[in-house]
Amino acid sequence: MSETPPRRPAHELARFKVRGTDTTTKISPNARLARPSVPVTARSGEYTRSDWDAESFALFAEGGDPPACPECGRTAFFGPRFVEPNRRHRGCRFCGFWQEVGAAPEQYLPTIHNCSEWPECSRSQYIWWVSPDTESYPCPYCHDEVAVALCITAVPNEDPSHPWWKVPQGRNQSFYQRLWKNWEVSAGRTIL
Ligand SMILES: [Zn+2]
Ligand SMILES: [Zn+2]
Repeated sequence: MSETPPRRPAHELARFKVRGTDTTTKISPNARLARPSVPVTARSGEYTRSDWDAESFALFAEGGDPPACPECGRTAFFGPRFVEPNRRHRGCRFCGFWQEVGAAPEQYLPTIHNCSEWPECSRSQYIWWVSPDTESYPCPYCHDEVAVALCITAVPNEDPSHPWWKVPQGRNQSFYQRLWKNWEVSAGRTIL
């Protein structure tokens, strides 16, 4: 029997965390910080289709640097996303900030199925983020049905020991493409 990740009380997951301070990643004074080349609307503002278009064009057509998450401030995990056939949203795989075009931001829940097929990514188990009203989903790797309540794990942004804190910050797009290429689950991505 596999171990169950620590569960978090629902009330802790249901609200946005106040932005934390990253004290674990040392960025040298000479490191180039991310250029504000990708416009990102404030998280409290309305997220429109034209915002999504602008963020996507800057990142994927113009090759701009991956933007910082408006919630946690991390780069490499956040950006505009598209899911076939026509779902447009943006999300952060570090803190769980998620926002559909035309909708208010949501706090997504991090899950790990712990099955033998579950992928590794950047020195940690991959996280499958789900909307707060999701009760279960088919595991994309072993295809068993995953009960969200039994597979919730810690939000990396709230877990100072999480290995994803070591992902370098403020780098350009080609740096992150090379980084994410190291794991099968993230190969081909610009942002995790
Ligand atoms: Zn974030
Ligand atoms: Zn599975």
